[in-house]
Amino acid sequence: MRKKVFTAADLEAWIKSGKSVADLPKDAVLTPSAKDVIRDGVPGAPAAKAVAAAPAAAPAPVDPILPDYEYHWTPGKDPKTPAEIAAFFESPAIVAIKERMVDIGKRMWAREYTDGNGGNLTVRVGDNLVLCTPTLVSKGFMTLEQMCLVDLDGKQLAGKFKRTSECMTHLAIMKRQPKAKACCHAHPPHGTAFAVAGVQPPTCMIPEAEVFLGQIGLAQYQTPGSPENAEVVGNAAVDHMAVLMVNHGVITWGKDIEDAYWKMENVEAYCKTVWVASQLNGGNLLTITGGQAKELIALRKTLGMDDKRANWQECQLCDNSDFHPGTVCRVPDQTAPADAAKLDSEAEKIVQALTDQILSSLK
Ligand SMILES: [Zn+2]
Repeated sequence: MRKKVFTAADLEAWIKSGKSVADLPKDAVLTPSAKDVIRDGVPGAPAAKAVAAAPAAAPAPVDPILPDYEYHWTPGKDPKTPAEIAAFFESPAIVAIKERMVDIGKRMWAREYTDGNGGNLTVRVGDNLVLCTPTLVSKGFMTLEQMCLVDLDGKQLAGKFKRTSECMTHLAIMKRQPKAKACCHAHPPHGTAFAVAGVQPPTCMIPEAEVFLGQIGLAQYQTPGSPENAEVVGNAAVDHMAVLMVNHGVITWGKDIEDAYWKMENVEAYCKTVWVASQLNGGNLLTITGGQAKELIALRKTLGMDDKRANWQECQLCDNSDFHPGTVCRVPDQTAPADAAKLDSEAEKIVQALTDQILSSLK
């Protein structure tokens, strides 16, 4: 049989004529839109089911799976009445997210990111609907029945257990940053140690951290669960997917709860590595260059993550002098020579004037 390219239209006509994907010529070449037809079926065509049920003898080429746990709701269609909310709360899609929250609670606890009843998780599931974990429950031993549903002001809409008070901070992030569809809060020891020391972790040390975390933010201390805490953390989280809350812990956000949790792992691993590295080689940490950091920030953008540093000068990107004197950008600032020469001559004048003063006072 002659080799044939099948477009979406060809394939729809093929299926509507009663044939299935299994009947396609062995050497059939499918366009990307034809592959979509195989995946989605043909609306209204009884054969669409037959496609799904086609024997495995002739596996059709389909795009490889990319994991995606993001919950896509329809704007303006939140359930409103108590009955609608109750049905939504028990719907298969929401139960699947609750299962993931329970699972991530176990992972946080197992990694010692939470202790006692610490830590909490939220997932946005509507314009004004957010799933959250309960208060006074260990994150390692939660059950599906303990999950709560709140609105963006924190009013509990469903769930037998009382929602965590710290969800107010998560909601403040979601209100300010629409890309934050899920938040994860914990007290992992190394990240929290940086928060207690009030030290913003340095940048430009590990490429993956630059790409997946970006710069880690720092929010000044406020009482956990208070409106003031929600305010400072919410503001810091607009530009930072991970924020250290001074004297408290770490909060991260992402497009889904798995994504948000990964950022928690990233923060903890990063802070631990930087801390250990700080003990070695006299504390002289190497950094990648500003130019290399710029490439990583561009890569972040291709992955759908904004970065407030996109327009920064190369040398600003790796300026970690606050973190560790001597850990400075390797790239000389191209604009520096003229300015530096000017500053040098001014400094020289000041030194000379001071020297003259001292000498005259000694006379
Ligand atoms: Zn906390």
